Amino acid sequence: MSAPIKCLIIGAGPAGYTAAIYTARANMQPVVYEGHQPGGQLTTTTEVENFPGHPDGVMGPDLMDNIRKQAEKFGADIRHGMVTAVDFSKRPYKVTIDGKDTVEASTVIVCTGAGPRYLGLKDEKKYLGMGVSTCATCDGFFYRQRQIAVVGGGDTACEEALYLASLASKVYLIVRKPYLRASKVMQTRVFENPNIEVLFNTNTESLYGEEFLEGAHLVEYAGTDKERKFDIAIDGFFLAIGHVPNTKVFDGQLDLDDAGYIKVRGTSQATNVPGVFAAGDVCDPTYQQAVVAAASGAKAAKDAELFLLEFPE
Ligand code: NDP
Repeated sequence: MSAPIKCLIIGAGPAGYTAAIYTARANMQPVVYEGHQPGGQLTTTTEVENFPGHPDGVMGPDLMDNIRKQAEKFGADIRHGMVTAVDFSKRPYKVTIDGKDTVEASTVIVCTGAGPRYLGLKDEKKYLGMGVSTCATCDGFFYRQRQIAVVGGGDTACEEALYLASLASKVYLIVRKPYLRASKVMQTRVFENPNIEVLFNTNTESLYGEEFLEGAHLVEYAGTDKERKFDIAIDGFFLAIGHVPNTKVFDGQLDLDDAGYIKVRGTSQATNVPGVFAAGDVCDPTYQQAVVAAASGAKAAKDAELFLLEFPE
């Protein structure tokens, strides 16, 4: 087998690409495996208004494309392929790509991000792609002039509801609490949009429809004396209730918290395995912002650089 890769970066969102920029500039010849979603979650969003340096906003896919190009400019080797297994028991670390090829690496930076969370309803998976979606920008087009619902009260839910309100005839926003968790600016936009009806204190009990989704059974004030059950007729049901970290492949290899996020040490991006670092949403249950992910990618790169100086082999 050829010499180990000096720095292997797993995942290609803002954290992975930024780690690639920094490690490439530090002459660490990084190799990045992009996984199933090159560019990460920002490729499924529309306009990003809070990434510094873009006073007029920037489209998520364009932002990621630019960060990727910046990494390539400095020599990062960006490859297609999904990491399907890792062996972090001893250096050089072994990483399996697409279930067949194994590469070895002296340091690893895990930037695998997070994926959409589901409610856990039995019908959710049944209607996946036939009414149930986790990505408004991917699937919104199919719901022009239809009635749809978005579940969640955070920034993602508001962003999706606003985007879908420009396409659909009506958007219900189903919020389990009596308030939205989203930022004030998003809340105001939602409340001012005549196409969006916010259903507070409401949960989804189940979905119905023959082949395709036709509606949802909802309950307001569940378990109280004000409880009310009612149905809404919808063709689309968009989940925006947060994320779960993509750490399945690291279970048993890295220390994870109860929610599955990779634990990092103190203010560094170091995991419990020397020479293995984590950055971005995969180790951040709190902030989950592109700029924070990018910054932690830079930190992980600096950590890996120092580690390699001290422990080159
Ligand atoms: P959040 O965790 O912020 O919000 C999740 C929402 O889903 C909450 O309203 C939560 O309800 C609700 N929820 C969770 N589980 C369930 C359930 N089982 N049933 C019903 N509702 C449920 O996730 P987001 O993805 O919205 O945001 C994550 C982070 O990304 C945040 O920091 C956010 O600010 C950021 N973000 C920023 C954007 C921007 O600035 N443009 C755009 C998108 C995201 P409850 O409040 O009751 O817990």
